[in-house]
Amino acid sequence: MFNSLSDRLTATFKNLRGRGRLSEADIDATVREIRRALLDADVAVPVVRQFTAAVRERALGAEVSGALNPAQQVVKIVNDELVGILGGQTRSLQLAKTPPTVIMLAGLQGAGKTTLAGKLALALKEQGHTPLLVAADLQRPNAVTQLSVVAERAGVPVFAPHPGNTSDHDMADGALVGDPVGVARDGVAEARTKQHDIVIVDTAGRLGVDELLMQQAADIRSAITPDEVLFVIDAMIGQDAVTTANAFAEGVDFTGVVLSKLDGDARGGAALSVAKVTGRPIMFASTGEKLTDFEVFHPDRMASRILD
Ligand code: GDP
Repeated sequence: MFNSLSDRLTATFKNLRGRGRLSEADIDATVREIRRALLDADVAVPVVRQFTAAVRERALGAEVSGALNPAQQVVKIVNDELVGILGGQTRSLQLAKTPPTVIMLAGLQGAGKTTLAGKLALALKEQGHTPLLVAADLQRPNAVTQLSVVAERAGVPVFAPHPGNTSDHDMADGALVGDPVGVARDGVAEARTKQHDIVIVDTAGRLGVDELLMQQAADIRSAITPDEVLFVIDAMIGQDAVTTANAFAEGVDFTGVVLSKLDGDARGGAALSVAKVTGRPIMFASTGEKLTDFEVFHPDRMASRILD
């Protein structure tokens, strides 16, 4: 994902190797290179601005004496600032004191929510939890089926409305017409009754942010008072990431971010902007189509990977 950014930053640091004390002009030239590399990687402009200002200030104030030479000092500063924009600390799932822990998924259509539901369920199951998946995406004709398939692959049960045998859900124009808020609520109640300790609620996405979608997600959020609302975002969407993330932050007040498709070869700016812009932590990364292509997101490890 970050190959190009990584190469550019490494080349910039290489120019500093073997140098003695860096002049202000040297630092400015380096910061300019870093700025260009970040902008070319599609990192959001305000994030780039803050990032480069912080690097410049710290590089100018850096002591020459000490264990690190000037080039190493710059690398360390850039590393620290990268960890900072990626959210600082690793943040794990907040489990409810009284089970079930309710996790709601939100995001645009195609972001990778349904796949993530399966990945998260599998990972939690392997940790000894007993997750239930809830199909509250009634927008797309195939969404319920797709979640059921994912649930089966993960070996976890799914709570879904069945067209034909649930009186308040009908098929119209190939889409399930029903009440996603009711399904979400019933799903959480089912988890409680059947003693699942975690319930993961998949919700509908649209191709773009729209009011109806946001209202539906907000209604589901109020109905099920989730412990975590995870906003799933396709890391390949580039500069649109910031607008989308802000819309969801405002609309559903998500508690954490999941970056999906980090295995792609896009420039990755979304990944580097979203935590800083929304002030919410990136908690997980999705790195492929298989259910095991999933990891806890560690800001420090991601920064090291970029600067490797
Ligand atoms: P949803 O509409 O948000 O539920 O998105 P889906 O889970 O249906 O994912 C949309 C498409 O992206 C599917 O074809 C998935 O197989 C694919 N996908 C999901 N996550 C990843 C990922 O991390 N990497 C890659 N390469 N593809 C993914």
